Amino acid sequence: EAIHSVFLLHAIRAGLSMGIVNAGQLTVYSEIPKELCDKVEAVIQNLSPTSTEDLVSIAQNYHIDGNRKDSKTDVEWRSWSIEKRLEYALVKGITTYIIEDTEECRLSAERPLHVIEGPLMDGMNVVGDLFGEGKMFLPQVVKSARVMKQSVAHLQPFIENEKTEKLAHNGKILMATVKGDVHDIGKNIVGVVLGCNNYEVIDLGVMVSAEKIIETAVKEKVDIIGLSGLITPSLDEMVYVASELERKNLNFPLLIGGATTSKAHTAVKIDPNYNRNQTIYVSDASRAVGVAGKLLNKKEKDKYIKEVQLEYEQVRDRAINRKPRNSPLSYAEAKKAKYKIDWAEYTPPLPNVLGVQILDDYPIESLLNHIDWTPFFITWNLAGKYPQILNDHLVGGAATDLFKDAQLMLKKLIKEKTLKASAVFGLWPANTINDDDIEVYEDQTRKSIKSTLHHIRQQSPKNNNNKEMLSLGDFVAPKETSINDYIGGFAVTTGLGVEKLATEYEKKGDDYNSILVKALADRLAEAFAEHLHERIRKEYWGYSTDEDLDNEELIKEKYRGIRPAPGYPSCPDHTEKKQLFNLLNVSENIGVSLTDSFAMKPAASVSGWYFSHPKSKYFNVGKIKEDQLESLAARKQFDISEMKRWLRPNI
Ligand code: SAH
Repeated sequence: EAIHSVFLLHAIRAGLSMGIVNAGQLTVYSEIPKELCDKVEAVIQNLSPTSTEDLVSIAQNYHIDGNRKDSKTDVEWRSWSIEKRLEYALVKGITTYIIEDTEECRLSAERPLHVIEGPLMDGMNVVGDLFGEGKMFLPQVVKSARVMKQSVAHLQPFIENEKTEKLAHNGKILMATVKGDVHDIGKNIVGVVLGCNNYEVIDLGVMVSAEKIIETAVKEKVDIIGLSGLITPSLDEMVYVASELERKNLNFPLLIGGATTSKAHTAVKIDPNYNRNQTIYVSDASRAVGVAGKLLNKKEKDKYIKEVQLEYEQVRDRAINRKPRNSPLSYAEAKKAKYKIDWAEYTPPLPNVLGVQILDDYPIESLLNHIDWTPFFITWNLAGKYPQILNDHLVGGAATDLFKDAQLMLKKLIKEKTLKASAVFGLWPANTINDDDIEVYEDQTRKSIKSTLHHIRQQSPKNNNNKEMLSLGDFVAPKETSINDYIGGFAVTTGLGVEKLATEYEKKGDDYNSILVKALADRLAEAFAEHLHERIRKEYWGYSTDEDLDNEELIKEKYRGIRPAPGYPSCPDHTEKKQLFNLLNVSENIGVSLTDSFAMKPAASVSGWYFSHPKSKYFNVGKIKEDQLESLAARKQFDISEMKRWLRPNI
């Protein structure tokens, strides 16, 4: 009797093989529901070969505290007043009764609009307060928004019938992912949170040109423009949008957000291009409402903007006055300080398969064990490492619910074959020339060059211990050694089918599942990259046949070799993706294309190079000097100004 159902439920969910019971948390044995108690006893006493499955199959009908999900506490709220019920449904994110409750409320209301202005808004205010107090978390708020949307959708036809009054919003906000970029999870989350707070959101979607953004902002008389982007070229595009607003003498507050954006970039690069003193960096979705509120409050706005400007002025001062601790080396000096590998002592492994291979319609099941869940929780603003996050004292509940929804969604995606996973990879003979360029050859004779890859070398010493100035070129045997070396390239996607499904959810007012699908597709793409890399090492290149690492060790990259991704710190030049995509004929082979800014479309895609040398490692190219920039532009046959544009963050 000491081991009881609640403990077992926890154990099963956590996939434990052994556990320690906190006696203080044990519930009374006789109070365990009979169905659950029987199944638990069957497991403990090993009564039948299927007892574990039997227990697992009913486990999801129970709360983690052992109560049945449809038990008294779950139905009690149904007897409350209609206002209280709507509030409860909003706070708990329950859509089950929302239409009937909305209808009941509408029938008793003077006007359908009053249902929104009254109980629904009140309920969302409670949600907003709980979120602000850190008692509710982002996934829960997005679920609340789903309840709200479905309720409003039910009321909409009645409101339109009346044609008398319109809902008064707090303000109108235009949201867009800038031209060349396809990433929209963050933007969508911000849109939902703003919507929850009674802002009217006009979402222009992804890859939106400055012209379209400005035209819409003017036409719709929006109060604020919000720009989002993930990849580094988007930083420049945001500067462009700002300068266009300036050129057209327009006066919109501009919000900046997305993975590579920052307060520093906003203060130093964007704000000075738009002389309205109202360009503001928004570090995460939970901040958006506060910032919008202050900007639209006539009393607070000036004071707020002054504060921000004062802060940005300091950020700019610091940026101007910051001197590197060690002065950068010339390109020639940096080359001399390259990472030296004793090639005479080393024989590069010969791949088992050379050339390009396609893995079409790859089984998604085989990727599940390779998912790195920690970034998934970060996407939803839940801080903590998986799996510990599931038991976190603060976010554990929200994380567990989200994780459960994710598991169900994955099952559904697999069963209904909604997503398609495909990969293409290649392994080719290769040698480095002039330290930083890698020649990829047609075949083993190495006579004909298929493509030349251009890498960038560190020139800014971090500290005095770090004397090596790295370039990815260092990890492939130089041509003059006459050693036969190789390089690989890959592109994987799990994004085919995502857009269609996400749009279907959005049409149903279900942003929660739309965002969930996109976040999971991203996770699967990374998992696919990890899984394929493992197969490359073990089979196709075959230099680590006896590697035996679990997922945690894979996530920690405890294997030999790397898969640097163009656009990332060791190879920050996004335009090199063009060479990679040509070598692999990616768009024809697996249907992934590149945008103007070299973002991969669909977004749930990953690509990169394979380096096999045991000493190969990731690093940050950091700031480079004009001399290397000129050399690079000449080697790549780019105009200096164009080369500069692509490498702006490194200059
Ligand atoms: N487990 C993570 C894996 C992605 S992040 C996830 O599921 O999200 C790690 C990957 O980012 C690497 O495999 C590499 O492709 C890329 N990367 C990280 N640091 C890099 C660097 N300095 N230069 C180039 N690519 C890098």
